[in-house]
Amino acid sequence: MSVITEPASRGNFPKATEGATDAVASDTTIWSTEKPKPTSIEVAREIINSTLGSLDPALRQVNIDLHSNPETAYEEVFAHKVLTSFLEGRGVAVQRHAWGLDTAFEATVGSGGRQVVFCAEYDALPDIGHGCGHNLIATSSVAAFVGAAQVLSELKIPGRLRILGTPAEEGGGGKIKLIEAGAFNPPRDVCAAIMSHPTASGARRNDGQRYDGLAGTRLISSYKMRVEFRGSTSHAAAEPWKGINALDAAVAAYVNVSVLRQQIQPDERIHGVFEVGGTVPNVIPDYTSMKWNVRSPTISSCEALVARVKACLEAGAAAAGCEISYDVAPTYQDLRVNSSLCKAYVQDMAKLGLRIEQEVQVPLEASSDMGNVSHMVPSFHGAFAIPTSPNVSLHSRNFAACAGTNEAHEAAMNCARGMAILAIRLLTDDALAEDVRRDFEMPDPLP
Ligand SMILES: [Zn+2]
Ligand SMILES: [Zn+2]
Repeated sequence: MSVITEPASRGNFPKATEGATDAVASDTTIWSTEKPKPTSIEVAREIINSTLGSLDPALRQVNIDLHSNPETAYEEVFAHKVLTSFLEGRGVAVQRHAWGLDTAFEATVGSGGRQVVFCAEYDALPDIGHGCGHNLIATSSVAAFVGAAQVLSELKIPGRLRILGTPAEEGGGGKIKLIEAGAFNPPRDVCAAIMSHPTASGARRNDGQRYDGLAGTRLISSYKMRVEFRGSTSHAAAEPWKGINALDAAVAAYVNVSVLRQQIQPDERIHGVFEVGGTVPNVIPDYTSMKWNVRSPTISSCEALVARVKACLEAGAAAAGCEISYDVAPTYQDLRVNSSLCKAYVQDMAKLGLRIEQEVQVPLEASSDMGNVSHMVPSFHGAFAIPTSPNVSLHSRNFAACAGTNEAHEAAMNCARGMAILAIRLLTDDALAEDVRRDFEMPDPLP
């Protein structure tokens, strides 16, 4: 089935500049005059449902292919091929290797009007595979794009829908590189950027209630760095006093940070691993490296915390007499919530019989490069619950298994329906688009 089909005479959306969304369909050739006429948004919903219904087997296969072939940051060659081939198979012209990134892609349909961008993530975690369920993110964003594109084509709605394949969310900040390359320029031309992330099912931490998903996810800022310690080797038994022990520097640094952890705010996180810890015990290690994540609610508080962490690391280096150097990755900004986008999504998901929490007030102690996008253009980062057993955590092998089930796929597809209709609303409803812009331009409540 092609996204670019012959437009049918269904529904009657106003032009993007004409305001109200729920205009009554004027076409009476399809809808019986005895029955109430469906509004255009209802017609759009019907088109999305039938499009995604017929594409479901193909999208399920895309999902399975991604899930069974997990690839880490900037190495998502197979996922890039699967996703771009799927879109091209539906008649969409795709720019592969977009914006100078081998595993990024983009495609745009429509013309004129406003622009909505769907972001698709598809990277996995080393050793754990799709323990963050990005196979479901890619599936839901691609499904939302093709569903909304079909509406655009059939109902001749002015506006543009773009899908942006965004690699390396787990590390490497793919969206930050895309921002720097100009993928969101001019920012004023982007009405909204949209994506959603899977989460474990179960009661919410804040109110103990169960929801099918969350519209407004708040995330904290994250600073990532590799730290290297350099000393000199010697025989560990015969002449240890001649060595400068880089492992001692790293161990002392780790202990210092562990001590610091008690003195930080409850919504801050510091976590690190030893990457290189030496080779053999009878040689004093002359080189070690560690990776650290430092998270705090905002970029400014994160920077203040990073200074304290660096003092711990440098004290370890000084104690062992080692040199220290840093390799800093792009900083993930906190994720902003756009209340108007969330409200519209909650309303539309209710029409599917799904209960969505509108927004959380307290940020979750996790981070995403979608945070950087949310400071540049109005952004929606929802979450959809997939069936899991109790106490399953993101970034675990258990969650990776849950992310590959048919039930998880169904949850992703329901989310896609909601995101698709949200995009159509944004293109057709001037009042909503203005509210979304107004929310975005309000001062950030966080310092
Ligand atoms: Zn993750
Ligand atoms: Zn993730």
